Amino acid sequence: MMNDPILVNFHCHSIFSDGEQTPEALAAGLAAAGVRYAALTDHDSIEGLPRFQEALKKRGAASLSGVELTTQFNGREAHLLGYGFDIENAELNATLSSLRQIRSLDVHSIAGSMRKAGSSRPNGGAPVVSAAPQGQLEIGEAIALIQRAGGRAFLAHPLVLEAELEELDALVGELKSKGLDGLEAIYAPFSESQRAALVQLAKKHDLLVCAGTDFHLSGVQGYPLGIEMPRAEWFQFRQAFFSSVNFSADAERGQKRCRGGAETGAWQPARAWYHSRQTAPLSAAFIRAACFSADTGRHRIIPLRHLGHHPAIL
Ligand SMILES: [Zn+2]
Ligand SMILES: [Zn+2]
Repeated sequence: MMNDPILVNFHCHSIFSDGEQTPEALAAGLAAAGVRYAALTDHDSIEGLPRFQEALKKRGAASLSGVELTTQFNGREAHLLGYGFDIENAELNATLSSLRQIRSLDVHSIAGSMRKAGSSRPNGGAPVVSAAPQGQLEIGEAIALIQRAGGRAFLAHPLVLEAELEELDALVGELKSKGLDGLEAIYAPFSESQRAALVQLAKKHDLLVCAGTDFHLSGVQGYPLGIEMPRAEWFQFRQAFFSSVNFSADAERGQKRCRGGAETGAWQPARAWYHSRQTAPLSAAFIRAACFSADTGRHRIIPLRHLGHHPAIL
């Protein structure tokens, strides 16, 4: 039914942060629970993404690239979810290394000491500067970093940052001015009324809504594998990963980014998440075609030549 909620989970952890499952086991569990769209969002790590996305794709479900960044916001720790970015983005990878290093996860390598200085040289190229050279990432910087990598930034579990709605309203306004794209309003530990209030807050600030359970482990202590996302919010979320996206005129670069695998499964034919200031937005016809593909979960190749677009996005 078109109005039925859709089962998703855009907030999960694996052994690459504090989850108990491998990316493969997590993907298998999600698919078995009937989840159709998911994102692995490990804390300050995207190392599990290729394994997760491959495993989920094999089971016929789709994924977006994801991460949960630890950021600083007015002296508080705020968690920021990033989706749909290029997992090969050098600046993002350098920043994640800096963030992990402050937790002494990779202090013993030469690369680690280079990152300590806030830079690295992937493939012998120009140095890439971390957005968090001291291991502290300011939330406005984090939002911009995700967006420069071609993704979108959502405030995770907003009521954990601030439980008072009035206070939260002011903080969300401030984050919106820093470029925030959305709120995780549909969050498993929140009550129905809290979720409804957060959806309203997102609407008020013209923000998107995402949905997740913060899955870490199975069993009675853990949160569920899937969460129902209302269709209205789902449509907006899904469309956002297509409609606002520009794509590169550089086929070489486009194909490289495709291999980066920001999306897999049903969304793969519509890899329309290119982030480039100098190119044109996608046409409404393409967006409709791509959205249809995502909604039905069918692997649908869109004849872009008929729509007058660059073939790189296939
Ligand atoms: Zn969190
Ligand atoms: Zn989390």
